[in-house]
Amino acid sequence: MPRKLTPARKLVLASHNKGKLREIEALLRPLGIEVVSAGALGLPEPEEDAPDFAGNARIKALAAAIATGLPALSDDSGFCVAALDGAPGVYSARWAGPAKDFGQAMTSVHERIGDNPDRRAWFVAALCLAWPDGHTETFLGRIDGAVVWPPRGDKGFGYDPMFVPAGSGQTFGEIEPDQKHAVSHRARAFAQLLMACFG
Ligand code: IMP
Repeated sequence: MPRKLTPARKLVLASHNKGKLREIEALLRPLGIEVVSAGALGLPEPEEDAPDFAGNARIKALAAAIATGLPALSDDSGFCVAALDGAPGVYSARWAGPAKDFGQAMTSVHERIGDNPDRRAWFVAALCLAWPDGHTETFLGRIDGAVVWPPRGDKGFGYDPMFVPAGSGQTFGEIEPDQKHAVSHRARAFAQLLMACFG
């Protein structure tokens, strides 16, 4: 049985990524949980050296829970391209370099795909809820779609402007945040977390 998080408790969001924080806060808002970010608490960013999304999510959530004595929620996510054998994957943030230049990261993806006709791509999110005693619960969500070039839209973050979810004509950068929250990898992982650990 998954461990429950009693509502109305305080939760640390173990992320320094503003785009993700915005989305996770929007997903948590209806639950009336008080959230504080790891950045606002001045927590250091632990090294994410696990080989997969779930492992990295666990590293971040556990570090924040142990440092604060509060339950902590982390997100490790990334963009995967079939023609690149799943890259950039867990290296999605790193492809943008220290300047976090996602224009450059998207150009790298585009150039490496070259004239490969396989345009399949997907986002993955691993959400991990960790308690200060070391207990963790992890949930995965995924959305499939295709890469497009050139990038379109400025409403999202990261690789959103070059990703069109299956069944849509618009990129994640073109649709309103509410529409993205209804279908995204993060929302899908979040729905599982809610069912398992809340209420
Ligand atoms: P990390 O989980 O902090 O290692 O960073 C994952 C990276 O994947 C982010 O910096 C984004 O570039 C990318 N990413 C994750 N989720 C999304 C999304 O919803 N839209 C666009 N890019 C994303």
